[in-house]
Amino acid sequence: MKVLVLGAGVVGTTTAYYLNRLGCDVTVVDRQAAPAAETSYANGGQISVSHAEPWANPSAPLKLLRWLMKEDAPLLFRLRADLRQWLWGLAFLVECAPQRARHNLEQIVRLGMFSREKLRELRKAEGLSYDQVERGILHFYTSESEFRAALAPTRQMRELGCDRSVISADDAVAIEPALAQVRTRIAGATYTPSDESGDARAFTVGLAKVCAAAGVKFLFSHHVTALRRAGDRVEYVEATDAGGQFCRLQADAYVLAAGSWSPLLAAPLGIRLNIYPAKGYSITMPVADAEKAYQVSLTDDEYKLVFSRLGDRLRIAGTAELNGYDRSLNPVRCAAIVRRVEELFPGAGDTKRAEAWAGLRPATPSNVPYLGHSRLANLFLNTGHGTLGWTHACGSGHAIADLVCGRRPELDFAFQVAAMENQPLKLAT
Ligand SMILES: Cc1cc2nc3c(=O)[nH]c(=O)nc-3n(C[C@H](O)[C@H](O)[C@H](O)COP(=O)(O)OP(=O)(O)OC[C@H]3O[C@@H](n4cnc5c(N)ncnc54)[C@H](O)[C@@H]3O)c2cc1C
Repeated sequence: MKVLVLGAGVVGTTTAYYLNRLGCDVTVVDRQAAPAAETSYANGGQISVSHAEPWANPSAPLKLLRWLMKEDAPLLFRLRADLRQWLWGLAFLVECAPQRARHNLEQIVRLGMFSREKLRELRKAEGLSYDQVERGILHFYTSESEFRAALAPTRQMRELGCDRSVISADDAVAIEPALAQVRTRIAGATYTPSDESGDARAFTVGLAKVCAAAGVKFLFSHHVTALRRAGDRVEYVEATDAGGQFCRLQADAYVLAAGSWSPLLAAPLGIRLNIYPAKGYSITMPVADAEKAYQVSLTDDEYKLVFSRLGDRLRIAGTAELNGYDRSLNPVRCAAIVRRVEELFPGAGDTKRAEAWAGLRPATPSNVPYLGHSRLANLFLNTGHGTLGWTHACGSGHAIADLVCGRRPELDFAFQVAAMENQPLKLAT
C-alpha cells in the first residue's frame, strides 16, 4: 500500500517508520528542507508520562484570568479578533470540568506509557542516540499551594500505572544535587524514575536516516497547498516543489501529521480540527560549570518550565502564548526564562551564549491529540499533540500505522472515529 505522510516533524517521521516496518511504500512530504525543522526543533526534551495533567483542569480558569495581562505569564491568551481562537477558548473551558479533566488525563497517561515503551524498543532496535538521559523526571514546587494541588493528579497517574511518587525536598536534592542551592524554597516534589529526556530533533533526524535507508522517500522543500477529494476519499495532494513547480502526489492512504498547520489543510475538506498554535519558548546554552548544572530532567511547576540536559548543553523550555501563528521572540519572556535559570542554578550555564527559539505547539483544548480516522476513508489523523508530541510520538506513530494497515492497535485509547465532517468545531475527546 502507498502511503503519503504530510509532515516530517517527530510525529510524521515516527509514523513513516512504523508504516515502513509494516511493509507500506511510504513517502513523507514537508515544506522544510530537513526533518524536525518546526515545532520538533528545540523543545523541552522531556519524555514525560508524568506531565499528564491537562492545561484544562478545574483550577485553570481562575489562573488564566490572573495571568491575562501579565507579559511574562506561563500561559497567556492574547485575545484577538480570531474566531478560531475564541472557539478554542470556549472548548477549553468545557474541558476544565472535573470529569473531562479526569478523562483527558487518563488518555494522556495511557498514550504516554505506551509511547515510552515503544521509544525504548525503537532506540534499541535502531541503535539511535540523541543525548538521551534515563534518570527520570523530577517535578519540584516552590509554591505550597501548587504542590498541594498536584497531589490528586499525581495519585490518579499512579492509579493508572505511572510511577510518579511524592518525595520530600531532601529526597529531591539527593536525586538532583544541583537543587541544593534552592533546597529551602522547595515546598515539595514528585519523582518519576521511568521518565526520560533527550533531543527530539536529533532523534527525528536520526530516525529519518533510518527510514530513508529502509526505503522511505522524503520530499523536502515541498509545500502542500491542498488535499483534493473525490467522494469520500482523498484523491491526491497538490504541492509546489523547491523550484516552485506544481506537482500532484497520489497514494492509497494519507496521514495528516502537519502539527499546528493541520487544521488549515483539513478545513477545505470540511474536516474541522480544533487545534490552535500555542507558542512556547526554549533557551539552549552551553554548560558553564558542570558542578552546578543539573543532570536529571526537571519540571519547575510554579514557572511551568522544563529543564533537560542535552550532552554539554542546558535546554530550558516552557510558557505558552495563544496568539495565532506569530513566532516572533518576545524579549520579556526570553529574559524571564534566563532569569529563572540563574535564580535556580547560578553559574551553571553560559547565559551570554544562550540561544532563544520559539515553536508552535499544536494544542487541542483537552491536550488529547487527534489520533485515528477522519471522515474520509483514506485520510488518517496523527496531529494535535500540543505539549507532549515528543513524549507521544512513538506510541501515536505505532498506533496510526496499525490503523492505516487495518490492524487493531495495541494501545487502549479513545481513537478518533469517522465523524467530523460538517460538524461545528469539535471538542476533542
Ligand atoms: C517550547 C516547547 C517545549 C516543548 N517541550 C516538550 C517536551 O518537553 N516534551 C514533549 O513531549 N513535547 C514538548 N513540546 C511539544 C512538541 O515539541 C510538539 O508536540 C511536537 O514537536 C509536535 O510535532 P509534530 O510533528 O506534530 O509537529 P511539527 O514538528 O511542527 O511538524 C509538522 C511538520 O509539518 C510541516 N508542514 C506543515 N504544513 C505544511 C504544508 N502545508 N506543506 C508541507 N509541510 C507542512 C512542517 O514544516 C513541519 O515540519 C514542546 C513544544 C514547545 C513549543
